[in-house]
Amino acid sequence: MSSHRTPWYARTVSAAIAKVVVDLALDREFDYRIPPHLAETVHIGSRVAVPFGRRMAQGYVVGLADTSMYGTLKEIGEVVGKKPLLGDKVLELTRWMAKYYCCPVELAVKCALPEVVRKGKISWKERQYVKAGKISEEDFARLLKKAKKQARVLQVLHGSEGMFASKLIERANTDASTLKRLAAKGYIEISEQTEERDPFGGEVFLPTEPLALTAEQQIALELCNAAIDAADGRARPRYGIGAGSPGAPLPEPHGRPGGPSLPSNSAPKPILIRGVTGSGKAEIYLQAIEYALHQGRDAIVLVPEIALTPQTVERFRARFPKQQVTVLHSHLSEGERHDQWHKIRDGQSHIVIGARSAVFAPVQALGLIVVDEEHETSYKQDEAPRYNARDVAVMRGRIEGAAVVLGSATPSLESFYNAQRGRYTLATLSHRVDHRKMPLIRIVDMRQEAIRAKGLYVLSHRLRDAIYARLEKKEQVILFLNRRGYATHLFCPKCGYVAHCPNCSVTLTYHRKAEQLNCHLCGHVAGVPKVCPNPECRDPAIRYSGMGTEKVEAAIQKAFPKARVQRMDSDVMTTKSRYREILGAFRVGKIDILVGTQMIAKGLHFPSVTLVGIVCADMALHLPDFRAGERTFQLLVQVAGRAGRGDVEGEVVAQTFTPHYEAIQFARQHDYLGFYEYEIEQRRENRMPPITRMVCVTIRGRSEEKAKFVAETIARDLQKQLTPEMLMGGPVPAPLARIQNQYRFQIMLRSEQVMRLTEAISKVTSVLRAPSDVNVAVDVDPVSLL
Ligand code: ADP
Ligand code: ZN
Repeated sequence: MSSHRTPWYARTVSAAIAKVVVDLALDREFDYRIPPHLAETVHIGSRVAVPFGRRMAQGYVVGLADTSMYGTLKEIGEVVGKKPLLGDKVLELTRWMAKYYCCPVELAVKCALPEVVRKGKISWKERQYVKAGKISEEDFARLLKKAKKQARVLQVLHGSEGMFASKLIERANTDASTLKRLAAKGYIEISEQTEERDPFGGEVFLPTEPLALTAEQQIALELCNAAIDAADGRARPRYGIGAGSPGAPLPEPHGRPGGPSLPSNSAPKPILIRGVTGSGKAEIYLQAIEYALHQGRDAIVLVPEIALTPQTVERFRARFPKQQVTVLHSHLSEGERHDQWHKIRDGQSHIVIGARSAVFAPVQALGLIVVDEEHETSYKQDEAPRYNARDVAVMRGRIEGAAVVLGSATPSLESFYNAQRGRYTLATLSHRVDHRKMPLIRIVDMRQEAIRAKGLYVLSHRLRDAIYARLEKKEQVILFLNRRGYATHLFCPKCGYVAHCPNCSVTLTYHRKAEQLNCHLCGHVAGVPKVCPNPECRDPAIRYSGMGTEKVEAAIQKAFPKARVQRMDSDVMTTKSRYREILGAFRVGKIDILVGTQMIAKGLHFPSVTLVGIVCADMALHLPDFRAGERTFQLLVQVAGRAGRGDVEGEVVAQTFTPHYEAIQFARQHDYLGFYEYEIEQRRENRMPPITRMVCVTIRGRSEEKAKFVAETIARDLQKQLTPEMLMGGPVPAPLARIQNQYRFQIMLRSEQVMRLTEAISKVTSVLRAPSDVNVAVDVDPVSLL
């Protein structure tokens, strides 16, 4: 398939000067002379060793030039590795990221390459491979009599093309010396061959055929295919990105609200598929990928890390030949990651499935990027560069002229707003495949329950009865709670003492199995006191309040002693096999009730689950974040989507203390559009994203005074840069005012144009002289304001 493609690294450019980004975070490109003997081997993306100060440093070539502004230049020392690691388009993408997300370009480059690839310490696994040689019948007959072991090896090898020595030795039940003897006589040939470390192991998948699409699916697929056609791969953005065109306006992934729309280029508009849960979005992705492959183009599929379940990967592996599909995610071993990455880069694999960083996958002829569950916050990296893989995908699509398809049952307000404004093309799947009903969502008012029950209960009568009914019918139940642990905090009813983390401004969480208190932010572990630790109180009645998954599990076990209950959260999921085991057991009906955190809310498909209980629907509502309503709505609808995927109609019971909240009421009706209209109006009134764009600057340090001083200095300097249209809030202590003994202050900036903000911030921070123990972090388009 890839025969006609010229790999990008095969191109030779002869230039005198290389622009090099050095691994030390200096945020600058340095010019080096290319010595004549390296003229053929230095390309954009080459990893090189260069003299830097008095030592050698490693870096990447990010540009080539004929002349330099600087006088005497040092020479590149050597080129590391045979081929350049970064393609010129991905390099262009990292340059854009550096500017857009206000981070040094070497950091952007760094996150575009897996560490194992960057460091180059691991390479392909070479192993001895054995093929049959020549042997006459008489010789073989002699072996059969005199050297049975050797004969057995030949028998095992007979009829096969060859096999790895280790496997041959095992099958023939012999050892390496036997092989040596055979090789010496020429009866077998031993050579070195690379063996791929395959994350799927020998797993076999039952192949699936494309399904006949529903009318709505067909329309969505045609939009995708048209976008792939329009994406001719040679499409270049008309505007410049990065150093090539200084002064050119920096493009944003989806244009600028309020501002002029971007110059159009030949890259097609991104497509947003809003399809209710169970409407068959995955089938559209599969057929669009197939179409892209037909056009000789590659595809990248991004899924949230948490949804990278065997179930998700299986769908792709079952539809396409094994060699075509590679996975990139955090559970791979270093060797596996090396092999998968190089397979993609060498053009041996044309479909990449992965989490956030797979957006940088080095495919050669990108035709399509799919971002599934595009609303997921895990696409945003929470350390520098604080990029959102969804938005980087949109930008990569533009740079490479590839189609970009975003899908979700509950699109982010940002994406839907873009669709409303015509920046994205919208496709809607309004019903489930086969017109199965959306599950009924019943709301239980826990305030009433509490009055009736004279106290707080984990399970309302309604939920308990519903579970009972399902268990009677041998149907399965999922109970969802967005919090790990047993109780949220340790609390003394007499003096009001609450156990806090000594390093962070949060309460500690009680974990009953381990009989300890944990901080979910820094991992601090403390023992559980028998009496109130307050020296003036010492009351033995110290108790736990709030609830976590562990407590729900215990309450369920108590209410239904015969039911088989399993908890699934990150405390239980210590290994990846454990995750598979539990899902497998649930799927075959060995578990009746699954209790879990958001881990079970994503992308799982269990036909016999007919009841989903949401233990506390308003947990997210009380976060100090303007997106709290949006998160609650998304969570409810997504969790509800797990119910009733089989033949039996599903039911959802959601317990809440705030049944009147809009997010909960709209979720109850599965009314995305209603919620969107309501919420976008709120945002408009408050001038919040996506109506405006936001940048959050967080200043942190061990010394509260120093951090505060730096924050105030930055705010004062920023004030001078602001135009009336821009809004600044703060500095104020962050909602999580202290993490790991670091005090945190925030400055929140809003504007119609994000560029105005990042420019102002760059101006201020570039001349800022902050003490070395105070850290300034810039978060463009933040998804969490804690
Ligand atoms: P979504 O990702 O939108 O939540 P899925 O892709 O999981 O939905 O689809 C739900 C189920 O419907 C899956 O079992 C899938 O195989 C099936 N399905 C999808 N499209 C079709 C179709 N056109 N005809 C029949 N079944 C389909
Ligand atoms: Zn802590």
